[in-house]
Amino acid sequence: MYNLYDYSLPKLEELVVSFGEKKFRATQIFKWIYKRKIYNFDEMSDISKEFRETLKKDFCLKKPEIFTKQVSKDGTIKLLLSLEDGDKVETVLMRYNYGNVACVSSEVGCNMGCAFCASGLLKKKRELKVSEILGQVLVLNDLLDEEGNNERISHIVVMGTGEPFDNYENVMDFIRIANHPHGLEIGARHITVSTCGIIPKIYDYANEGLQINLAISLHAPSDEIRNKIMPISRVYPLDELMKAVKYYEKTAGRRVTFEYILLKGINDSKENAKELASLIKGTLAYVNLIPYNEVNEMKYRRSDEKTVHDFLDTLMKCGVTATIRKEFGSDIDAACGQLRAKDEKQLSR
Ligand code: SAH
Repeated sequence: MYNLYDYSLPKLEELVVSFGEKKFRATQIFKWIYKRKIYNFDEMSDISKEFRETLKKDFCLKKPEIFTKQVSKDGTIKLLLSLEDGDKVETVLMRYNYGNVACVSSEVGCNMGCAFCASGLLKKKRELKVSEILGQVLVLNDLLDEEGNNERISHIVVMGTGEPFDNYENVMDFIRIANHPHGLEIGARHITVSTCGIIPKIYDYANEGLQINLAISLHAPSDEIRNKIMPISRVYPLDELMKAVKYYEKTAGRRVTFEYILLKGINDSKENAKELASLIKGTLAYVNLIPYNEVNEMKYRRSDEKTVHDFLDTLMKCGVTATIRKEFGSDIDAACGQLRAKDEKQLSR
């Protein structure tokens, strides 16, 4: 069985044409799926009976299933979703005053090996299919429907488990469906992909011609420090990364966000802040400072509040725009870098 949630509109068009149907049938089906949330082919009344029967033979519309659900004091919801092959993946709903943000995972596990991140404790098992990334948003939308307040996911950040640019094509097809007016209709400017800095893919992303946002996990002001905490940095050094950022800014016409976790005694001195300011000079980027969420197995500690504010001050004095990231769901391990299943039993089947 093929899952129709794996098909972006251009791919669905190819599919219907391959069955001898007119291209516009794809748009009709797409609207049934995403606008009317119809999962039963028999209900797609403007599609011929014959074609519906053909579809029914080989195609389905299947979402991941909720394995566990945790709700935080602040309303954040973390789901552990069960995929068709039994693999599990986490997804988070955050409620900001401007909307409902889905933080989606792009892979089962992660191979980037960042020294401070819990997601990477589980090595990458596989990439997620389009339907499995999209399915995370669909399941969260179902939960919002159940709440009955006429709300839906309005923003997406691809910042869950996995490295999105290590699963580029599927992540992009997911975004095409999420963004499409006949799809989930989430504005490109409401969609952000976060990468640890896979440079060739930053160029590809810039060339997509979409207004989607890019966030880069920087976390260090120099290669020397970055090499210690992010192995990817040894492949893609910072001067090359800055060139890619400038290319993205010029081509996509968007500013990049640099994510910077403050790690006690590692990258959080005033000197580091000055280095950071000079590193990103010449870009339009702004810096999002992330309070570190401590991970038991790891030696890194959160910088104290004064250090965080001094770091912010120093950046601002150097003319850098910066903010401190608001924290959600830390009581349910839903916060940045904490996404992974604690119970190993949940992972094996
Ligand atoms: N692989 C992508 C997306 C997933 S990580 C990337 O690297 O950008 C999402 C963000 O959470 C990244 O900026 C990551 O560095 C950060 N993060 C990881 N572990 C963290 C932790 N323990 N505390 C706070 N932020 C963390």
